[in-house]
Amino acid sequence: MFPSRFRYEAPHSLDEAIGLLHDGGDDVKVLAGGQSLVPMMKLRFASPEMLVDINNVPGLAYHRADPDGSLHIGALCRHADLEFSDLLKGTQPTMAAAAPLVADPLVRNRGTLVGSLCHADPQGDWASVMLALGGTVIAQGPNGRRAIPLAGFVTGPFENALEHDEIAVEAVVPAAKGVRSGGYLKLERRVGDFATVGTAVAIETSGDTVIRAGIALTGVGGSTIGATEAAAALTGKPLSAESIAEAADLAAAAAQPRTDHRGSAEYKRQLVRVFVSRLLGGTVIPSTGTSSAERAA
Ligand SMILES: Cc1cc2nc3c(=O)[nH]c(=O)nc-3n(C[C@H](O)[C@H](O)[C@H](O)COP(=O)(O)OP(=O)(O)OC[C@H]3O[C@@H](n4cnc5c(N)ncnc54)[C@H](O)[C@@H]3O)c2cc1C
Repeated sequence: MFPSRFRYEAPHSLDEAIGLLHDGGDDVKVLAGGQSLVPMMKLRFASPEMLVDINNVPGLAYHRADPDGSLHIGALCRHADLEFSDLLKGTQPTMAAAAPLVADPLVRNRGTLVGSLCHADPQGDWASVMLALGGTVIAQGPNGRRAIPLAGFVTGPFENALEHDEIAVEAVVPAAKGVRSGGYLKLERRVGDFATVGTAVAIETSGDTVIRAGIALTGVGGSTIGATEAAAALTGKPLSAESIAEAADLAAAAAQPRTDHRGSAEYKRQLVRVFVSRLLGGTVIPSTGTSSAERAA
């Protein structure tokens, strides 16, 4: 399939790119890695009148830790940059675990984390990871920059909170207030496939006490799901078999999976339960169809 005709612009500055978006109206799309947009255009699910390719804009291909401990990921930082990042190893366990599980090496060489957040695919891995970490997207438009928390950035399947003339220039992971741990688990039918179920867990502890927890789910609902009640069940106390079981049950309850060719809704819900438990170091809970509270009773 071929895309419909479109105008192509490749500006050399952010201001020029934003100007093109501003003047072009609603039918203009930013092109970053092109790994989601180009297939959509070839299938004619998207037919923008103009593409604004940001790959010539300098200063966007970075990921770096600021002195305050926050991590900044520029709009042209590729999945592969994160996969092989020494910075992530040790300091960002959830991101380090997810990076090699996004797509396949070809896609990882071109696709970007920020593009993945903008694409807002319910099966996109990075949105769950960044939601679990309490991340933020920095948008730049004609009137300057604004920060949009991930929880409000993904507004629905394939929808984000950007105005038509804004570019997401970077994503930010806040500095950890405690010791960060966590990970990302993903069930895929074949290596490189989208998630049947993905689960991101990010924990911060001070001493034994969990002072911040984030849990988010990939591929088990109409958009990325933040399992906020599950995360709340972990905070303010040490991790224990009971709190892990409760969080796993609450995360499973927050999932909204549908039965399809990849498995039944109940199977996917049980995977969420197992993944959350594993990521928190708990034992794998057999599916009984009952909650931890019911099992304890
Ligand atoms: C075969 C294949 C397998 C894949 N498997 C997975 C997978 O397992 N997990 C996964 O998470 N993803 C997967 N993907 C998607 C891949 O991760 C994409 O790279 C990612 O979703 C989009 O990033 P991109 O840079 O390629 O964005 P693009 O394709 O360039 O853009 C995607 C959308 O975001 C917008 N956009 C991009 N950047 C910006 C910006 N800076 N500001 C404003 N808008 C922007 C574009 O206008 C477009 O609407 C797969 C893709 C393919 C082709």
